[in-house]
Amino acid sequence: MSNVLDNPVKFVPGVGEKRAKLLEKELGVRTLGDLLYLFPFRYIDRTRIYRIAEIQDDSLAYIQLRARVEAMQVVGTGPKKRLRVVVSDGSGHAELVWFKGLAWIQKRIELQREYIIFGRPSLFNGVLNLVHPDVESTLGEGSRFQPGVQGVYRTTEPLVNNHINTKTLFTLVCNAWQLADGRIEETLPPEIIREYNLMGLRDALYNIHFPTDETQLKAARLRLKFEELLGIQLNILAQRNLRVMRNRGFIFSVVGQRFNDFYSQRLPFALTSAQKRVIKEIRADMGSGRQMNRLLQGDVGSGKTLVALLTMLIANDNGYQASIMAPTEILAHQHYDSITELLGEASGVRVALLTGSTRKKVRDELLEQLAAGQIDILVGTHALLEDRVRFANLGYVVIDEQHRFGVEQRARLWMKSDRLPHILVMTATPIPRTLAMTLYGDLDVSVIDEMPPGRKPVKTVHYNDSHRLRMLGFLKQEIDKGRQVYIVYPLIKESEKMDYLNLEEGHAGIVQAFPPPDYYVQVVHGKMKQADKDYGMNLFKRGQAHILLATSVIEVGVNVPNASVMVIESAERFGLSQLHQLRGRVGRGAEQSYCILMSSVKLSKESRARLKAMVDTTDGFELSELDMQLRGPGDVAGTQQSGMPFELKIASLSQDGQILALARRAAENVLQADPLLSLPENQLLRQLSRKNDTEDNRDFSMIS
Ligand code: ADP
Ligand code: MG
Repeated sequence: MSNVLDNPVKFVPGVGEKRAKLLEKELGVRTLGDLLYLFPFRYIDRTRIYRIAEIQDDSLAYIQLRARVEAMQVVGTGPKKRLRVVVSDGSGHAELVWFKGLAWIQKRIELQREYIIFGRPSLFNGVLNLVHPDVESTLGEGSRFQPGVQGVYRTTEPLVNNHINTKTLFTLVCNAWQLADGRIEETLPPEIIREYNLMGLRDALYNIHFPTDETQLKAARLRLKFEELLGIQLNILAQRNLRVMRNRGFIFSVVGQRFNDFYSQRLPFALTSAQKRVIKEIRADMGSGRQMNRLLQGDVGSGKTLVALLTMLIANDNGYQASIMAPTEILAHQHYDSITELLGEASGVRVALLTGSTRKKVRDELLEQLAAGQIDILVGTHALLEDRVRFANLGYVVIDEQHRFGVEQRARLWMKSDRLPHILVMTATPIPRTLAMTLYGDLDVSVIDEMPPGRKPVKTVHYNDSHRLRMLGFLKQEIDKGRQVYIVYPLIKESEKMDYLNLEEGHAGIVQAFPPPDYYVQVVHGKMKQADKDYGMNLFKRGQAHILLATSVIEVGVNVPNASVMVIESAERFGLSQLHQLRGRVGRGAEQSYCILMSSVKLSKESRARLKAMVDTTDGFELSELDMQLRGPGDVAGTQQSGMPFELKIASLSQDGQILALARRAAENVLQADPLLSLPENQLLRQLSRKNDTEDNRDFSMIS
């Protein structure tokens, strides 16, 4: 079956070999269909023509003039060499300026002729300027000037340098359309089009490029977004089905003595109902015969460790070993300490700790015991991933702060078992639902959405430099009450030009305000060796330093209940989720805690919104939604490291949550009856899904 959309793009009139190569390299456009799936990122109204005298400021993004050329001159030399064209429309004069392609433009512009001029206005000494505008003759043959709403396409510098600007792209799209129209095959099954009341593909492609009106454009966008998100959801969910079919899970059928003894005798407090619910969800997975792959989201301090411990005891009760991996030594130690303390001496559960600094003798013995099945719970860092670490029967793996590990690293841990163990990945970085559905779409998600009782929400204030003395006075007050303080800086070394406080300057100021020997200030920053960092952190943990001055290295899970104040310097430079993480370091004890956001007086609108949100709410999910609205999904923590797994052409995860939910539902409905999309009637959907195959999920492509 040949589809016109699959034809190579070089056959589109106006493209040819050379441009085809460029289009592929720059925009990934290989086929005619790719060209038609290059959507305008906005539209301009080419029906409106401005008078030059009307333009009083540069608030408009684009304007269109109809004006006559009065003078034309090349001025300047070297990089300043430019073509200046003076035009007039009777109401006033404007200057058009070109720095590039002078000869080409000069040839195309004639004195005294009238042109439609289109570009971004700026005022320069009161004169209206347009740099590199589009210019078209209003007369004669070959005039392509057509009033109407027109798409603006994304270009790149190499494209523009080769005379493929947004308008050229529009022309190429027009040409492609002429070849394709009447031969475009629908990509969605009729039932789905009907059920979700979607525009057909032909009309959608037409209207996305040449919108007839607002309503049609909206319907076209909806259809194309739905298609895009449906393809991704089908891909993710079909892969998940495949994984489930391939991997039978260990069946943990009993909740036995270890769990019960601990639960009834050792638990120092009642579980929150969120913790109970999550433990139930995990138990159900563990007993189902399916291999569990679950993401546990829970705000800092929500009690994820306890959930990990209780569920590891279930693994033990069923005769399997369990392991928990943390991203830093200090966290691994923290887990080890709290787990052994919670279990107590008499539990009979054999817990061990393995990190990079475990002594050889201890390590050798430990590895032997591990392989002999004499260790029940192994706590550790990346050191767990080394080849010589062998378990006797690893049945359950917990990964804390999962975003700190690469996909491959995580996978290495579960390869240590002949059969894939049950997996729980935990994160304190709340991820908006829409993002989670896409980023972690093949994981089941549990959420702890409730804090243990008795916690006082952290009080947050936003100060600027004029409040610095007040801030220091407050710190003194708290420290003199016996509490400890974090002060966090965004960077270690600043570039000269910027006036942000840096850690070193800040250190001098703080030591001056809190001089030895009465006060001790400990510094920890990202460029220090891990061992030195841990040493410094431990000093603070033991209460031997009053102030911990740090770059954001303390972000992850450290627990110092006595610390009651978090000061964040140049807070405007942190993202919302990072600010939230940092704030989560305090408020872990019984005392009222405080977070002080220091910023410069002058702030961008976005920074102000971020800091205001921090003052207004302590809800991590609310903040993560807002972060996504403000910055777009690409910057939300958790995606920075791995990047977005899918490139979206038209849908937006921050804005199209509702469409995503619909697409998700549609995907689930289809896959329920046909888990791997193998039925003949689902071949269209299968194709849609496979557009999203990546390196990581090549498994799924292999079964076709
Ligand atoms: P996180 O989810 O950030 O990893 P932790 O597991 O470190 O949180 O728990 C934070 C603190 O809350 C710990 O000191 C823990 O003992 C305590 N905690 C956990 N669950 C409860 C509960 N149900 N009631 C009271 N305190 C709890
Ligand atoms: Mg934790």
